[in-house]
Amino acid sequence: MRALIAGNWKMNGLAEDARALAEGLKTFGDAGQLSCDLLVCPPFPYLGLVAQTLAGSRVALGGQDCHSVPSGAHTGDIAATMLRDVGCTYVILGHSERRSDHGETDAQVRAKAEAALSAGLVPIVCVGETSKERNGDQTLAVISRQVKGSVPVGMEAGRLVVAYEPVWAIGTGRTATPADVAKVHGEIRRLLVGLVGEGAEKVRILYGGSVKPDNARELLTQANVDGALVGGASLDAEAFWAIAQSC
Ligand code: PEP
Repeated sequence: MRALIAGNWKMNGLAEDARALAEGLKTFGDAGQLSCDLLVCPPFPYLGLVAQTLAGSRVALGGQDCHSVPSGAHTGDIAATMLRDVGCTYVILGHSERRSDHGETDAQVRAKAEAALSAGLVPIVCVGETSKERNGDQTLAVISRQVKGSVPVGMEAGRLVVAYEPVWAIGTGRTATPADVAKVHGEIRRLLVGLVGEGAEKVRILYGGSVKPDNARELLTQANVDGALVGGASLDAEAFWAIAQSC
């Protein structure tokens, strides 16, 4: 399966930073020559600017969240159809920062993922355990609950991405061991078979949590790891490109 390397820029930078980062990605080479797909998810206000800057580059564009309904009285929210309208093809959903900052539940994440699919976007549904849950040996139970509760039912498997992001590894410089990653990704694949049947093999399962150029290859070569969701290192065009070259 062709890997996906996705950059989550989170709430970082202003317009000039977004433009420079997108320009930077273009200077490293032709994304079409990579053996993986490249995706960047800038803050909402800069999606149009980044879409323009990346035009013709084969780097895909994604949002960091969307609402579960297509329009209406939802002040401050963004519809999946709006993301599609400005050129997005993906949207990150249920990131642990959304789950903790905004109390997003599995049911809400699933409703958003269904809205994303209806709008023609590929949802990247994030799951992952906290350090407390990990220390309490709850990792697989948490992953099972989140996957079963957040993944939309009855969708085309090729249009779904799941990201395993242990919360304790996000932005901390700590990563799960390759063996732990392989174990959790294997479990996610098994859960997906139960949810989408045979097509589960086509769902890309990304690892996220302090992925850097120097650990990317080891993580990306584990069984059932079909790419990476990258936070901090995606803010540096050279580092992000180096991760993409590890595929
Ligand atoms: C993320 O925010 O999804 C993430 C994985 O961040 P970082 O790479 O900085 O750990």
